[in-house]
Formats: sequence, C-alpha cells, structure tokens
Amino acid sequence: MASPARTIATPHCAACKYFKKKCSPQCIFQPYFPSNQPKKFEVVRKVFSASSVSKILKDVAVDERAEAANSLYFEALCRLDDQVYGCTGIISQLQWLIQYTEAEFATIKAETEMIKALVISSQTHEALLGPQFQQTETSNYTESSVEQNEYNPSDQDETALGSDFGIQ
Ligand SMILES: [Zn+2]
Repeated sequence: MASPARTIATPHCAACKYFKKKCSPQCIFQPYFPSNQPKKFEVVRKVFSASSVSKILKDVAVDERAEAANSLYFEALCRLDDQVYGCTGIISQLQWLIQYTEAEFATIKAETEMIKALVISSQTHEALLGPQFQQTETSNYTESSVEQNEYNPSDQDETALGSDFGIQ
C-alpha cells in the first residue's frame, strides 16, 4: 500500500527531469510542469529561465499558479513564434479586429436605420395615397376577371391575356 501512494505523491516534474535532480513534494514546478509535458517546461525555461519562472510562481498566490504557469507558457510560445512582438502581436491584431468589427457594426446599424426610415416613409406615403391607389389596383384586377368571365372576349384578346401571364 505504501509504495503506490508514494509514487502518486512524488511524481517527477519536467524541470527536475530536465536538470536531472530528484523532485520533492515541495518542488514549485511539480504541479504545473509535469514530466509528461516536457515541452511546456522547455519553452518557458528557454524564454524566461527556470529561476525566473520559479520566482514568478512563488510570488503568485497558490490558487493562481496554474493560470500563471499556463500564461507563461503561452507568452513563451508567442515570443518564440514572433521575436519582435511576442504576444503583443496577437493583442494588436485582436484590437484591430475589434475596431474593424465595431466600424462594420456601426455601418450596418446606420444602413438598418436608413432602411427603417425608408419603410416608414413608404408606409406613410401609401397611407396618404392609400384608398385611391389600392382601389385602382383592385378594380383593374376585378374588371379583367369580369371581362374574361362575362363578355367572352375575342381570340385576339385571349392571346393578349395569355401573353400577359406567359401562357401560349
Ligand atoms: Zn520538480
């Protein structure tokens, strides 16, 4: 029983594995840089140095150390990827994207307001002209229907009526 428990309590961390030293339960790297993620430690060591990472982790509250370790890893990856800007390059791109999206949103909002105003204007115009305009439209349709049913139009009229509806 004691052997498996000791194995779980004192796993080697990637830092101690890298420096070829024995890892202890008090090792600052152990919870955040496990030995099965050697790249994570290698990257932060290369960019910040192991002593700096150790100092940063010790200066941070225990419940925030995991986030700090992940943040250091991300920053180190960005720095290796972009030696000039590091993660600020990504931040700048995202800020530009936010500004672009906000400008696009403002344009779409303005266009939407303009379309709404046109619709309201059109509805107001129809309301003013409405009764006569609608009666004219309706009466034309009714007259042609009545003509077709009651007056039995000539062949020429049927052809004309058919061509209006795309029928031969
Ligand atoms: Zn260790």
